[in-house]
Amino acid sequence: MIGREMSDFYACVIPTDAGWQPEGEAAERAEDYVAGVFPDSDGAGQEITVEFYDRITAVDAGENLERITCPRCGADIPLEWYAELLEESEGEFDDLGVTVPCCNSQLQLDTLTFDWPCGFARFEIAVLNPARDDPEFTEDELTELGILLGHPVRQIRIHV
Ligand SMILES: [Zn+2]
Repeated sequence: MIGREMSDFYACVIPTDAGWQPEGEAAERAEDYVAGVFPDSDGAGQEITVEFYDRITAVDAGENLERITCPRCGADIPLEWYAELLEESEGEFDDLGVTVPCCNSQLQLDTLTFDWPCGFARFEIAVLNPARDDPEFTEDELTELGILLGHPVRQIRIHV
């Protein structure tokens, strides 16, 4: 995703399972629900997008990513390591297996601790520049979206 301004903000919802995709009809119901809970009364640049990705795609916290920690040894993983990984893969993966540089463990990328959260997904609903006062999905909304889609979801907040 490429923002048009420095200050763009996205609230994104992705399935908790990186490889999972909803049925088309379920995705449409979820999109309608998101449009309902994120009203855009003044048309001030809010945009709702729904994406299906062929491969597992990095949904990343952009400027918010400050720290990556290894779940195996607890060490910090250099941000440059992740940046290079994204560059080499162009942010797309067939599987999320990696060898981390800290302790050479073979781990799944989505088990690393990203702060702020980053995600990996083949499906995404995003609200660009939410118009409502609370720009993030609430816990209740995430629960409802999980029901509509047929799989639990989680939220990624992105500044670009
Ligand atoms: Zn480690």
